[in-house]
Amino acid sequence: MASGGSSSSSSSTKVAVVGAGACGLVAARELRREGHQVVVFEKGDRLGGTWVYDDSFETNPLSPTLFEQIRRQGEEGVGVHVHSSIYRSLRTNLPRQIMGFLDYPFNKEGHAGDSRTYPRHEEVRSYLEDFARDFRLVELIRFRNEVVRVERNHGSPNEWIVQSRSSPARTNTSESESEELLAEVFDAVVVCNGHHTKPRFAEIPGIDKWPGKQIHSHNYRIPEPFRDQIVVLIGNGPSAHDISRDISEVSKEVHIASRSPNVKIGKLDNYCNIWQHSMVAFQDESSVFADIIFHCTGYEYNFPFLETNGIVTAEDNRVGPLYKHVFPPRLAPWLSFVGLPFMVLPFMTFELQAKWVAQVLSGKVPLPFEQEMMNSVEEHYRHMAETGRPNHYTHKFDKDQFEYKNWLTAQVGLPPMEDWVEQMITISYKLVLSDLDGYRDKFDGDYWIQQFEYPSHRID
Ligand code: FAD
Repeated sequence: MASGGSSSSSSSTKVAVVGAGACGLVAARELRREGHQVVVFEKGDRLGGTWVYDDSFETNPLSPTLFEQIRRQGEEGVGVHVHSSIYRSLRTNLPRQIMGFLDYPFNKEGHAGDSRTYPRHEEVRSYLEDFARDFRLVELIRFRNEVVRVERNHGSPNEWIVQSRSSPARTNTSESESEELLAEVFDAVVVCNGHHTKPRFAEIPGIDKWPGKQIHSHNYRIPEPFRDQIVVLIGNGPSAHDISRDISEVSKEVHIASRSPNVKIGKLDNYCNIWQHSMVAFQDESSVFADIIFHCTGYEYNFPFLETNGIVTAEDNRVGPLYKHVFPPRLAPWLSFVGLPFMVLPFMTFELQAKWVAQVLSGKVPLPFEQEMMNSVEEHYRHMAETGRPNHYTHKFDKDQFEYKNWLTAQVGLPPMEDWVEQMITISYKLVLSDLDGYRDKFDGDYWIQQFEYPSHRID
């Protein structure tokens, strides 16, 4: 070990990866590249996580009535836990040229046949399947194996006990009689369980007294249940935008309510039935005329299987303390999290995090001493407090994502991110802001590739 504090003592470790979405897959690849033994636990029966569209949905905790309506349409899956939150019409909100992994571009050919710059979700799932196939990752995945508990071995603190439950193909009940529990020991655990599944709700005074139906975007699939309804949709993110347009085709009225100071209040141009409002209030229930309240208010980080005796907490969407959003200083490098940052280029960021984790575990890259890592976390928290950023933005990035990525590239011995990536995201964001409804079909990725002298990639 060259310098610093925490480091892996042996070059090859037995590592459990929780989840086979984009993060788990790239983590598995990087860990194996570094010579570690890898087991990927995946509770579902397909790889791809978020990108595995599922027609079924959960019993809506807020509104059995709406759920019943949807169920009557013949959908299956009553009462099952559904991981993915994507809807049937979803297209990516990033151009494919900057969405893929660094050394495995999200090419236009060879996946599911949607060559558009912003393709449909099937294309991304197919890309991830191709990635897993090309790097022989499928053999590392234990499908239908849900991790139910991860905790340190009390007798031997540098070991982790991972308890998993295997189950046969999904049934219409969440529990199955033939489930088996298995406890195994690992040197390290990499958590890649995703953070777009557990609904988060905005605090709206009086909403609990509102008698109507409610739904969260996690449970949204298709517009049909909203036919002829008056819908109040809360939120201002990409899902709020997409879903409002999706349901406006069948609903009577859509009223988008948002706290953002940057929205233009009033009826939207180009739509006869969508209005934008400032935030709703429920002081007087008679003043709200709506059939359904639709929460597009995001998700919560959730690690129901993780037992760290309070060393790592996830309160108000602050998972911590985590050094550089990855390693809890007291448990580093044996516990790590890949995939927490948001408002970043996800796949590239996760790939760099995964490379860092793999190289730290093999002892190639040292970590600072525990106290230094804690100081770094505390400095981040202090800076957030001083600049008025709420705790739930702890893992939110913006322009600083490139500084973070370049910090990671330096750790793992790669050159800094190439300028074209930053330029392309800047240009595509500008287009999104200027043309929310048309950006997906107006941004010409190929044209911009030529301007930036898009570099050639290779598959190792
Ligand atoms: P996930 O994809 O959620 O995968 C987590 C995996 O872990 C799942 O397979 C799950 O089954 C498994 N798992 C969870 N718990 C357990 C357990 N206890 N045991 C075993 N397995 C478990 N990103 C983009 O780059 N471009 C986009 O256009 C884009 N659009 C999006 C639109 C929506 C509506 C949403 C919700 C997200 C979008 N994202 C987009 C972000 C997307 O989530 C990330 O790109 C990425 O797919 C996240 O990967 P992940 O591996 O972290 O999590």
